Amino acid sequence: MKKKTQIKCFLFVRCKKELAELTSGSRVYGKFVRATQTWIVTTYLPYDREGSQSFRVYAKQPHSCPANKLVLWTNQGRIMAAYRAQKVPIQVITQNDLYSRTPFDAKEMAHLARQSVAIIGLGSGGSKIAVELANAGIQDFVLCDPDILEPANITRHEAGIFDIGKTKCQFAAELISRKNPAANITAYAEDIFMSRDIAQVKRILKRDLIVAATDRTDAQLMINEFAYRLKVPCVMGGCYEDARGGEVLYTLPDHKMPCLACLRAGLKQPEQLTTIDYSTAKGPEDYQGQPGLHAAIDFVTSVEIQFSLAILLRHIPGSRLSSIINPAYNYILIGTATAAGFYRFEKPFEVFFQRLKGTRQDCPVCGDIWKLLEKP
Ligand SMILES: [Zn+2]
Repeated sequence: MKKKTQIKCFLFVRCKKELAELTSGSRVYGKFVRATQTWIVTTYLPYDREGSQSFRVYAKQPHSCPANKLVLWTNQGRIMAAYRAQKVPIQVITQNDLYSRTPFDAKEMAHLARQSVAIIGLGSGGSKIAVELANAGIQDFVLCDPDILEPANITRHEAGIFDIGKTKCQFAAELISRKNPAANITAYAEDIFMSRDIAQVKRILKRDLIVAATDRTDAQLMINEFAYRLKVPCVMGGCYEDARGGEVLYTLPDHKMPCLACLRAGLKQPEQLTTIDYSTAKGPEDYQGQPGLHAAIDFVTSVEIQFSLAILLRHIPGSRLSSIINPAYNYILIGTATAAGFYRFEKPFEVFFQRLKGTRQDCPVCGDIWKLLEKP
């Protein structure tokens, strides 16, 4: 006779203290995974509600259990469960269990858990950055993107065909909460620069870090300026020409370092081009990101993620990752598999810091425009 599989239940809470707060009437959310006969239950409302059920915790074990519903009740401060008239053992998982294997020490983890990050643009790059920052222990996110997932996005994105029609914001929030249900996420599925006034945009972007992951250069320049005025560190990345190459620029508020407006005004246009002709570009909005192989985009995104974490950890003594931060070298060029002969890349997979001359005195964002005008 086939042995009946023991049904298990994992209960996720932020910390063990939260268990005591689970009392009669508390609401929990869960999914039954048929393949493993396992209930996964959390006290946090999941962003992805597909297939998840919501329950109330009973004061004591009820006499009859509703079919196909997990029944939870409290018993002398302990939480108990039953499913299909069978008692189910509960294994509690906390956030510490999720983050038990990370390259960061306890001090770094505690610091990352207190950081808040705004990500503008949640396409293939931004959504990946969001989920990897959640994996690294970031727990507070502000997400901004007005776009909706369309069929053409799917093969360049973590999203699948069943996500078509969702906002990119909603999908990124789902990705984060799948990793850490306790993460605090504020999502703006709108173009905040159009729909909000300056004071509101400032409030939205006043975080510990802004990641500019949109492929619209005009938006990147706007974010650059807000970051500078708000004195918030900013990571800006992008891919060029079918993701043959990409770049990451970061700025820190306490250092005089060239910003995106300095770079865009001073950088020579890419020298060798095949499909995009920048010679007719009238303004920065003409330097649009181009679709590339997802793996090539990921190569650039991966650099943005590491710089983002390094910046957040820059004040933590002994943090190994933050040793990559050097204000004199805040611009890195990343060549992917097909980079050879493109722009400044000689070989495939070439990655190098490109020293910038310094801030431009005539930069409208960070330059000393007044000093320039005062000059005789
Ligand atoms: Zn500047």
